[in-house]
Amino acid sequence: MEMLITRKAEFSASHRCYNPQLSEAENRALYGESADSRGHGHNYVVEVTLVGVPDPVTGMIFDLKRLKDIINREVVDPMDHRYLNYEVKPFDTVIPTPENIAREVWKRLEPQLRFQNAKLHAVRLYETEDLYVDYSGEGE
Ligand SMILES: [Zn+2]
Repeated sequence: MEMLITRKAEFSASHRCYNPQLSEAENRALYGESADSRGHGHNYVVEVTLVGVPDPVTGMIFDLKRLKDIINREVVDPMDHRYLNYEVKPFDTVIPTPENIAREVWKRLEPQLRFQNAKLHAVRLYETEDLYVDYSGEGE
């Protein structure tokens, strides 16, 4: 019987939402203050959900300590206290909107989470308490 299990992690990072192909006015209209060249920070919360079948011996879908280590290694350590646009690829060329950050988190985690009885199901990225994005890959 398949079940979902979710682990939450947090990181703080700065970003700027700005498309160099658009004018200053267009960027300002689209992204508001997020277009400001000084950037600004968020306390991002990421929820990583696995789908799987609990192991009959351990009673677990996946070792949650191991999941935490993978999230830290792939997402938290590289992004925490960084200015995403300048310090974290691909955000030098990809606008670090919550949508694009959620997709990048998925791309970093999914190859690390392919197991016989468990795999990545969804990534939820909160930019603020009242704004989040869900991403579940491009479909297989
Ligand atoms: Zn922002």
